[in-house]
Amino acid sequence: SEDRAILKVSHLRVSYGHIQAVKDVSFQVNTGEITALVGANGAGKSTTLLAISKIIAAQAGSVEFQRQPQDWVNLLAKTSSEIVRMGVSQVAEGRAILLTMSVEENLQLGTYTREKNPQIAQDLKFVLDLFPILKSRYKELAGNLSGGEQQMLAIGRALMAKPKLLLLDEPSMGLAPLKVKEIFSVLKELNALGQSIVLVEQNVQQALRISHQAYVLENGELTLSGVGKELLEDPRIIKAYLGT
Ligand code: ATP
Repeated sequence: SEDRAILKVSHLRVSYGHIQAVKDVSFQVNTGEITALVGANGAGKSTTLLAISKIIAAQAGSVEFQRQPQDWVNLLAKTSSEIVRMGVSQVAEGRAILLTMSVEENLQLGTYTREKNPQIAQDLKFVLDLFPILKSRYKELAGNLSGGEQQMLAIGRALMAKPKLLLLDEPSMGLAPLKVKEIFSVLKELNALGQSIVLVEQNVQQALRISHQAYVLENGELTLSGVGKELLEDPRIIKAYLGT
């Protein structure tokens, strides 16, 4: 599976002052797959994503990304905007869209790292077909959208950068169960079209259901990994996360 990798995180360590949020984390993301990072609140999932995008600095380790076939770069040596330009887009936790700007303007912001080119119009059409609700509310202020629609907008904006790898931090956060289902079904659809995805989730059940490979983080360390659907049946997962 080594040769199918698009991202290899090795011995990643991240601290906030004296707090070691990520201790010695290693995992691989395969091209064309959904890779889930699951675990409880405070386990270090968000911190791992933020370090990959260089939004915060890691203390040690490496994050190798395959920018082109046979062309690997260590993202830890790059800046956040270089990372976006190379094809890694992150959808932040809490959907950091601009509430006083329109849907249209938020989507345009997603292209800031790209040269003006005709491909952008095609990508916009793709995003609006994927999320028809954004098409019908195109001129509306983002602040007037529901939570679920704002999450769709945040994902749409990240897609406007045409990422090779999409990093999602808790897309289900704060959404009603029906909206969660909707978001996860779009992620499956995107993945079926070839999109490689890293999915950070506290909603362990839904995340394992749609992921190919999954990793469980506890207190900054990986404790378990495997095929998503198999982990769903694992007694340790059932006991710790699926309850009842
Ligand atoms: P959540 O779902 O709540 O985001 P998580 O698994 O993503 O959980 P992190 O947010 O990565 O976990 O947090 C990991 C640890 O780092 C926690 O102990 C948290 O309290 C701590 N932490 C996170 N952000 C900061 C910060 N800005 N300053 C200090 N400590 C932080």
